[in-house]
Parts: sequence; C-alpha cells; structure tokens
Amino acid sequence: MEDFSGYPIHAPIDYSFAAPNSLLSFLSVDSTALENQIDELSTFSDTPAPSVTRILYTEKDVLARRCALLLVFTLCGLILRYHKENACFHGIDWGMGICKLQYIKNLMGLSGLSVREDAVGNIFGRWDGYEPDLAPVATGSHIDAIPYSGKYDGVVGVLGAIEAINVLKRSGFKPKRSLEVVLFTSEEPTRFGISCLGSRLLAGSEALAEALKTTVDAQNISFLEAARSAGYAKEQDDISSVFLKEGSYSAFLELHIEQGPILEAEGLSIGIVTAIAAPASLKVDFEGNGGHAGAVLMPNRNDAGLAAAELALDVEKHVLGSGSIDTVGTVGILELHPGAINSIPSKSHVEIDTRDIDEKRRNDVIEKIHQSATTIASRRRVRLSEFKIVNQDPPALSDKSVIEAMEATLKELNLTHKMMISRAYHDSLFMARVSPMGMLFIPCYKGYSHKPEEYASSHNIGNGVKVLALTLAKLSLK
Ligand SMILES: [Zn+2]
Repeated sequence: MEDFSGYPIHAPIDYSFAAPNSLLSFLSVDSTALENQIDELSTFSDTPAPSVTRILYTEKDVLARRCALLLVFTLCGLILRYHKENACFHGIDWGMGICKLQYIKNLMGLSGLSVREDAVGNIFGRWDGYEPDLAPVATGSHIDAIPYSGKYDGVVGVLGAIEAINVLKRSGFKPKRSLEVVLFTSEEPTRFGISCLGSRLLAGSEALAEALKTTVDAQNISFLEAARSAGYAKEQDDISSVFLKEGSYSAFLELHIEQGPILEAEGLSIGIVTAIAAPASLKVDFEGNGGHAGAVLMPNRNDAGLAAAELALDVEKHVLGSGSIDTVGTVGILELHPGAINSIPSKSHVEIDTRDIDEKRRNDVIEKIHQSATTIASRRRVRLSEFKIVNQDPPALSDKSVIEAMEATLKELNLTHKMMISRAYHDSLFMARVSPMGMLFIPCYKGYSHKPEEYASSHNIGNGVKVLALTLAKLSLK
C-alpha cells in the first residue's frame, strides 16, 4: 500500500474541501491490490497472456463483468483468505480461482456501491452522497479489448475509479453529490464496427439506437441477439432507455493511459486533456472492368486498384495540406478484388480515418478527399460506386471547471503535469455531450497501446488514482 500523508505542512489547507468531521489528511492507494486486479482482469481473455482479447458480449466479456455466484464466492474468498492467513492451505493456488471472481460488478459491490446495468450493459456503481438529489459526479472507462491488445487501456479508468472510491472511503470522506463509477459497453469497434457504443447511446444517439436494430457482426449475429445472449436488451425498444437525460451528471472525469509517448518522454506524472480530436471514418469503393493482366493493354484499362492507390496518396496530400500538425489521416484498409496476381482489380475498397481537434478543418479534408475520389474515378474511367461518411463525430472540449479542479488537485499533490490533446477518442468524447467533461492521462511505456507490450507502472497508476480521487471529492462538494 502506497501512502500519501495529506497536504504539505506549509501549504494552506482548504477546510471547506473536507467533509464534516473529517479531513482528507490521509489518503492511501492500495497499489498492490489494484495491480493484482489488473492482472486478474487480464485473464478474462480469448488469447494467451500477455495479450488480452475481450470482445463485446463474448463469454469472457460477460464473465469479466459479473458472476451469478457472487455471494457464494465472495464468502468462499473470505474463508480462504482466513485460512491462507492461518497457513492452512499449502501448495494449492486457490488465490487464482477466487481472483477470477473479482470482476467489475463484484468489486463495485465489495466497495459498497449500489450497482445497476442498462439495456446494453453499461454498468453503474453509485456511492450515495449526503445530498443524493443533486446530480452525481461520474467517472469511468471501458474494459473491452481489441484482439491481441494489452491490459491497461480502459481498465485503469474502471479499476482505478473503484480504487479511487475506496481511497475516499478509507480517508473518511463523505461526498455531497453522489459519486458514480461507469463501465462503458464496447468502446472498441471490434465486433459491430461501432466505437464507443455504450457512451454514444448514453449521449442520446437516436441514429445508433435505430441502426442497432439491424446491425450484425461478421458472423451475421445481430447486435440484439448478442446482447440478449449476454443478458441485455430484453426488449427491442429497450435501447433508447439507455439515453441519459441532460443534467444527469454534474461532471464526468475519465482516467486513462496516454497511449502516446509524451508524458514518459518528458518525465511528467499527469496529462490534463483539454480537447479530444474528432474522428471521422470514410468508406470508398471503385469499380472497373478488370481483365487479364497480360491481355488487356495499358491504354485500355480502367484499374480500380490504381484508383484506390491514388486516392490513398491524395489523403496524405490533403491532410498535410491543412497546415496543422493536429490534422491526421490514415488509409488503414485497402482491398482489391479479385486479388489475383494475374487479374486487373475490378473492384477496390478503401477505408479512411481522419481526425482533428478543429471540426471545420477536418471536414474540409473530407470534402477534398471526396473531390479527389470523383476526379480520380473520372480520369481513370472507373465508377465511384460508394463514398460513405460512416461517422463524423465533432471534437469535444474539456470543461473549464473540471480542468480547474484537476489543476488544484495536482498542485496540492505536488505532481508535474502538462495540458495536452487526446488524439485517440474515448468515451469522454461522447460524455461531453451530456455532461461537463474532463480527462486525465498517466504515462505508459513508450506510448505503447493496443498491443501486449502496453504497460503503465504501479507508481504512475497510483498517482492517477490519487488525482482522480481528490478531483472527484472536489467536484462532489461543488
Ligand atoms: Zn481506451
């Protein structure tokens, strides 16, 4: 357990910050327990360690969320812990069996939170404040993991949030506004191609609620079928019940690994996110006549593959042409049909991701990509059979009051920090639509993410949890 013994002696103490009869003079993050929980959660995976694969509504995802035998196994855990402490169990690793049951809902319950789930499996754990009618302060992240990824992305913001509640409880703090930990369903788009599915719905996306009625995965399993098999979405029209009302939360704060190298390289403890870049994704299809690679002479070709290749280069040109380092664009998918060495591609499919913190600048890039696609198709005599903007989310700015609460906390904890932009999107991007939002980053090893080498030190996670706990406490008293 890593202790933090309150404010520096010479620093002014803000007594209004403390709960009645209790000062936040002693905060402790149980880093060992938190590290164990991160390890335990990583075993709920469809691929071998150190990789983690946890896809929406699969057996491992459901187990990571909950277990029907909660009470029985919690009791077993307590009994086993007693016996282990009394050296009655030797040579048998009972710990792991018990650990496997310390999934999210169980942990929320053990922290004394009242737990509920919505129709798509967003999970909420609430600690009632002494003025429970006020809008709560929320914090949280996701635990789903793309194939062969790491164990910290999202997880730090869920397990860290539960630990932040534990930190405040141990300190004797009493929240005025209730504090709520949220586990968001499916931040990653792996299964149904929709990123931030849970938070998008919480933010009231009618379009998504409608689209989910007909959405299927690569195995042709419908979203509703998958959700029902996991125990959610019992009625088809349940989905819109997920929408949060405006004002449901007075503030939302997410703790996350940076997923970039800046904090580590600059030796800083915390990043305060000021804005989240707005992602857009596009799908483009070209169609030509194809033909034999030997028989059709070059002047007579209309090669759908070359149209796609030329468009990929134009994406780079338009992104660089924005004049801002904050504009980025990627052609991550380029497929050719029929995909034979001796056949001129008759069809090509391109998927483009472009992001910026400036919505207009990013939309200008999209428009230029569209113009390029049209021009290339006409010049190469291929058909532009599809140009689809799959999503075009607006960027989100962090809320001033949440940023100020984080800054005040960092000063009190004497931690170094910098203001930064999140170029990856997060559930916070959507929570910003229904609540004042803030995000804080902790350093991660070499900025690695979405791969097994992803790593954040216990020390850095502990710092993040302290900042989260104190900031939640401040926001709760507002
Ligand atoms: Zn994440």
